[in-house]
Amino acid sequence: MKLTIIGSTGSFPGPGSPASCYLLTGHDGTRPWRVLMDLGSGSLGVLQRYMDLKDIDAIFISHLHPDHCMDLCGLHVAVHWDPAGWGRDRVLVYGPSMTGDRMADAYGLPRDPGMTEDFDFRAFKNGETVKVGPFKVTPYDVRHPVEEAFALRVEATEKLYGETKTSVLTYSGDTDSCDGLVEAARDADLFLCEAAFQEGRDDGLDGVHLTGKRAGEAAREAGVHRMLLTHIPVWTDSSVVLQEARDEYEGELAVAVAGVTYGVRSGDRLSEPKTNSMSRIPVSLTEAIRKAGGQRHEVPGQG
Ligand SMILES: [Zn+2]
Ligand SMILES: [Zn+2]
Repeated sequence: MKLTIIGSTGSFPGPGSPASCYLLTGHDGTRPWRVLMDLGSGSLGVLQRYMDLKDIDAIFISHLHPDHCMDLCGLHVAVHWDPAGWGRDRVLVYGPSMTGDRMADAYGLPRDPGMTEDFDFRAFKNGETVKVGPFKVTPYDVRHPVEEAFALRVEATEKLYGETKTSVLTYSGDTDSCDGLVEAARDADLFLCEAAFQEGRDDGLDGVHLTGKRAGEAAREAGVHRMLLTHIPVWTDSSVVLQEARDEYEGELAVAVAGVTYGVRSGDRLSEPKTNSMSRIPVSLTEAIRKAGGQRHEVPGQG
């Protein structure tokens, strides 16, 4: 499984990155599958540098704050009003039970039908795993001031080059320290964890976000193999929360970089940010290049 950071700025988009959106790619032996975790403000445009919107297999929404879901409104337009026709099934959207109604309200649509002609909304339930292609996604209740907030544990079982491999990524969503977060992250290959708050500065706020220190504690308790810090707002210095986490967690640790693709099991940076629209080379051609012994482009050693 590969993780591409589409947007990683906390709470609202920053000058260098949209708000939360993460693309996961996995291969089931037949074709690549692409799913998104969150579609926060500003992410829909940048996403198109990395994939065609028609290739979205599913979207998983961690909670209904705008920095995690608001670009569903833009995607609704892309699906509903494409002059050439969408030509695909409705987009599968898992998330809190109110997702469909809240998106209709945000857009000013009547709740019936709202966006249900474009999206197949399904409700997450704590601990209940859903399966999409090679991905198994399990939501865990976490501690954040909204009706339903989830951390997501994603397991991908892929058939690649004749081998079957499973990798595990846990995404914290937004949360303060809680058991659900540690349970979701248990032994994960990669823990993509928010660190919006700073020790000392935000001590008066309970039940909202993690500091770097609290993210590091969760990583240590869960025994994760590596961690990327994310959801860092523009007013938070990433080097401060990185040091806080480093004081608690001895494993591999870095700040998630917008536009970078990471190998979930290896932690390697597989490709660097793109500035233009996606290459439209069909998958069949890239597969042919690979079979003929072509090299995949990797930039090593910057993890
Ligand atoms: Zn947020
Ligand atoms: Zn939030």
